[in-house]
Amino acid sequence: MSEKGRLIVISGPSGAGKSTVVSKAVAERNDVCFSVSVTTRKPRVGEVDGREYFFVDLDRFKEMTDNNELLEHAEYCANSYGTPRAYVEEKTEEGLNVILDIEVQGARQVADKMSDAVKIFIIPPSMDELRNRLEKRGADTQRAIEARLIRAAQEYEEADFYDYLIVNDDADRAAAELSAIITAEKCRFALRKERLENA
Ligand code: ADP
Ligand code: 5GP
Repeated sequence: MSEKGRLIVISGPSGAGKSTVVSKAVAERNDVCFSVSVTTRKPRVGEVDGREYFFVDLDRFKEMTDNNELLEHAEYCANSYGTPRAYVEEKTEEGLNVILDIEVQGARQVADKMSDAVKIFIIPPSMDELRNRLEKRGADTQRAIEARLIRAAQEYEEADFYDYLIVNDDADRAAAELSAIITAEKCRFALRKERLENA
């Protein structure tokens, strides 16, 4: 019997290295895929529509929320972000685990709807290192960086809502931890009980 895929919700401050770590784990596993979000944020240099995000204007974003096309949505540093519902439903039906890289409000909405979602918080080793990474990434204005640092401190206060904490000091090690969590979650007794009964 093929099992339905689970949702793997990843949060953490912008610049923590979520995309870096997630893309390593996705490249190494054939049982996970990444949900590309929609956002009203402008693309950064190097970002491709449909790869990092689907970039939309506010009217289209509102239309998507009105039509219930988004599984969750939230505002972050003056932009709107949301998870397209159809992709998540299709992939979980196929048995794939779907990774969502979303902030805390969205993570809470997902957890309310899907109680078996796995919730992971990723942080950099320190706030100084977070600033370094945001500055080195060179993608945001100084003002946007300051806004992200303030938001990071707020999100840390809610981090005990998550099931797992990954400290991204070394990206390969952090990706290995993410992969280990996904593997461990697949081995949960409740999910495999049927195998025992049929053995
Ligand atoms: P996020 O998706 O959380 O916003 P990114 O994956 O874009 O973060 O990473 C932010 C910046 O930090 C990028 O320039 C990335 O190359 C760098 N980075 C990611 N992980 C590490 C790490 N473990 N050590 C040093 N730099 C890292
Ligand atoms: P960035 O602008 O740095 O790419 O992302 C800013 C924040 O938005 C990050 O915390 C990221 O996890 C979050 N985010 C990205 N996509 C979504 C989404 O679809 N929904 C929600 N709620 N947050 C998202």
